Order: sequence, then C-alpha cells, then structure tokens
Amino acid sequence: MRLAIVGSGYVGLVAATCFAELGHDVVCVDNEAAKLSALRRGEIPIHEEFLPELLARHRGERLTFSASLTEAVGSSDLVFIAVGTPAGQNGECDLSYVESVSREIAGAVNGYKLVVEKSTVPVCTSEWIRKVMLLEGAPEDSFDVASNPEFLREGSAVTDFLYPDRIVIGADSERAAAMLRKLYQPLITGAYRKHKGAVPAPDDARPVPQLIVTSAKSAELIKHASNAFLAMKISFINAVATICESVGADIEQVREGIGSDARIGRRFLEPGIGYGGSCFPKDLKAFRAVARECGYDFRLLDEVININDEQCQRFLRKVRAALWTLKGKRLAVLGLSFKGGTDDIRESPAIALVRLLLAEGCEVAAYDPAAMERARETLDGSVSYCESAYDAATAADALLILTDWEEFGALDLERLRACLNYPIIIDGRNLYQPEALAERGFIYFSVGRPDAVPKKSSAAKKRSVEI
Ligand code: NAD
Repeated sequence: MRLAIVGSGYVGLVAATCFAELGHDVVCVDNEAAKLSALRRGEIPIHEEFLPELLARHRGERLTFSASLTEAVGSSDLVFIAVGTPAGQNGECDLSYVESVSREIAGAVNGYKLVVEKSTVPVCTSEWIRKVMLLEGAPEDSFDVASNPEFLREGSAVTDFLYPDRIVIGADSERAAAMLRKLYQPLITGAYRKHKGAVPAPDDARPVPQLIVTSAKSAELIKHASNAFLAMKISFINAVATICESVGADIEQVREGIGSDARIGRRFLEPGIGYGGSCFPKDLKAFRAVARECGYDFRLLDEVININDEQCQRFLRKVRAALWTLKGKRLAVLGLSFKGGTDDIRESPAIALVRLLLAEGCEVAAYDPAAMERARETLDGSVSYCESAYDAATAADALLILTDWEEFGALDLERLRACLNYPIIIDGRNLYQPEALAERGFIYFSVGRPDAVPKKSSAAKKRSVEI
C-alpha cells in the first residue's frame, strides 16, 4: 500500500520504517528541514535498536523523505498523522499541530484518502479532523478518518511495532477498517516473522497480535486509558514502597506477591523515581482534562500525578540521608534518559533530579549511554559528562542510579568501589540486591527496601565508614 506519514519523530519514523519493512511504500514528511536532510543521508536522530538496520534496508527504496505534505498526500492512499500532541497550558492536549496538518491534508486530497490518527489524541479528535477537512473543502466522500493508536515503548520501539500485543483499529466505516486490516496483514497473520531477515521476535512476543476493531472514539479512549492505567500502576507501587520504607518491609517481596496474581501482573509494578517521558505525564493531564470537559472529576488521576511528582523529592531526601549536607558534594549520576534503551530525556525524572542536585550546590558527573548529547542541550554547563560509569564514579562521594539501563545493573563492583571516594550507592531503580552489595562493601540505599550496610571488615577495605 502507499502511505504518507506526517511527523518523523519517535513514532512517525519507527512506524514509517516498520511499514516499509512490511512491504509498503512509505513517504515520511516533516517540517524540520534539518531532520529530513539527516534522514536522507541515513543519519538517525533517535536511539532505537534495529532502527539503523531497517532504515538502511529501505531508505531510498520503499522509504523516502519529503518536505512536501501535498506531494506525499497526493501519492498515498493512507495518510498517518504522527505529529506531537504536547500538553497545553492547563494540561489539556495541544492539538494545534494536528489541526494544521489536517487542513493541509484536506487541501491535497486528490482521490479517496484514509486519514489515520497515530498521534495520541483526546476522544472526539477524529470528528474534529473530519469537520476541519470538510471546512477546507475536501469532498465528503473523498476521505475517512480513523484512529490507530500506537503502543510502542521507546527503547524497544521496533520490536513493539512489529510484534505488538494488540492492534487497535478505530474505524467508523467498513472501507477504512478493511484498509487498515490489509495494511497490518503481515503482522495479523504472523507472516512477517517467518520472513528471512525479519527482525527477531522477542521471547515474550505473542504468536500473533490480537486485532481489536472499534469505533474511532473508543480507540482514542483506549490509548488514553491504557497510559493512565499503566501510570497508575507505577504510582501505586511507589506509594506501597513508601509504606515499606516506614515499616522496614521489602517492596520487591511485596511486588512479587502482588504481581504473581494473574489479574494484576508484574509489569509496570516497578518502584523507582517515577515515570517520565513524552507520553505518560502529558497523556495523564490530557485525559484528566478530557474527563473534566465531559463533566467527570477524575480525581484518581490527580493522585497518580501527585505521587509521581513526589518521587523525586523522596529520592532527594534519600540522598541527603546518605550524605548529610549536599553543597559541594561530587555525585556520580548514572542515567539521564527517562528510561533505559532510549536517548529521550523529555520529562525525565533523572534530569529533574540532576537539576535539584545542582540547585543544592552539588557537583554532578553524569554518564548515560545515549542521552548525553540531548542532556547537554537542556542542562546548564556545570554538569560534567563522562565516558563511562567508572569515569563518572571517579572521586565521587556517592553513585546515584537514575535510569534502568541494562548495563547499570551489571557494573564491575570492585572497580566501582575503587573509583568512588566512599562506597555509597543510592539506587533509584532497584537494580541490585541490597545484601549482595553490602557483601561487596557498599552502603546501599534503594526504593522501598531496607538500607544495606557492609560488614565492618569489608567496608574498611576501602575506607573506614561508620554510619
Ligand atoms: P516527536 O516530537 O518525536 O515527533 C513529532 C514530529 O512531528 C517532529 O519531528 C516534528 O518536527 C513533526 N511535525 C510537527 N508539526 C509538523 C507539521 N505540521 N508537518 C510535518 N511534521 C510536523 O513526537 P513523538 O514522540 O513521535 O510523538 C508523536 C505522537 O505519538 C504524540 O501524540 C505522542 O503522544 C504519540 N506517541 C508517542 C509515543 C512515544 O513513545 N514517543 C508512543 C505512542 C504514542
């Protein structure tokens, strides 16, 4: 099929590349000239596993890039809208990019087009797109608007796209639903994974995704409600972790007990410094605003947001409890992206914490495998960026783990201990077992678990530490 994808960011670029991988002809549109030039040269603006290989495979063949939305729409049967939908001033979703793209699409209609919302948008947006396109003069029978929400996670975006749990098609006409079914056919039938050269399926991938066909409004609600529910799980476990800390229980044991209930599940019950990223914070606020507009006061969402906002302050208190005063302390920070596997620092709690530490007068030596370039653009100049975790730890008074990158859970602890001024780790992602670290001579603080202190003899190997 012939597709135009408008917006070549995390979602648009991944979707475009994966649709090309499924055999479709895709033209990717963006209004950032520099981004398009880089993509045409084969440079990838985001860090995602498998994306470089797939882009190299299809760029210039089934996947092209264009600054002209009109031309892209003219040569396509389906037009995906994948532009940003940031939070507006009062938390509501800012749909101005979606609106302006819809107007442009209307002006370029030259035959039947299926306009598909890929961006996360509030319920009823598809109706607005339709109205705007009609006002711009697009003939009534020349287009349909459908919703096809995207559930990919940054860090595993390509495999999430190619091996999804479910595909949601929100279409109000049979023609639109049939086109989207056809588009996803290689995934729906499981044919894609049998292709030679297919991106390998993750171990926990379903044999085929569940196909869910709904109205456009239901699909829009599915996306907002899904993100709100996942964020609620994170805030819930963080609230329980706080109780664990007060009574000396272990959140990992509690989590095992809760998560083993099939009705609840373990995923997203991960205590830490809170959720971030470009989706959960803004989508929760937007869903909250949608509810308010519908006359429903969705206070549960306020509490999810409040708990999350408190997590950074809680962690800062932990750092204080470990180090006493903070002014002038040199801290090694591992992780700047909002989660492992991505270079995305939007709404990253790690960045928020670095800002708080700098405001306290700390010296921050940071290391992140992918996000340092982006962090440099947003944090002030006083942060030093390091080549490795050990480089960051050198002469630091403590090590803080703020992002769950896999490599941070597999550090050479002997080497780390030798680098640090004091063997103190404050782990905002619970990547280590407290007893194991205490045995290796560390004083270890984590979330929702008792602090671990080394036996005197092993701590004394590095320095005599009494707490
Ligand atoms: P992004 O900011 O990375 O990308 C958006 C792109 O759209 C940018 O490249 C921007 O230049 C381009 N753009 C803006 N206006 C344009 C216009 N008029 N014409 C052409 N291009 C234009 O955003 P993203 O993270 O890809 O998110 C896009 C949407 O997908 C959002 O609604 C988001 O909530 C949703 N979403 C994101 C994720 C995720 O993990 N990032 C997952 C699921 C859904």
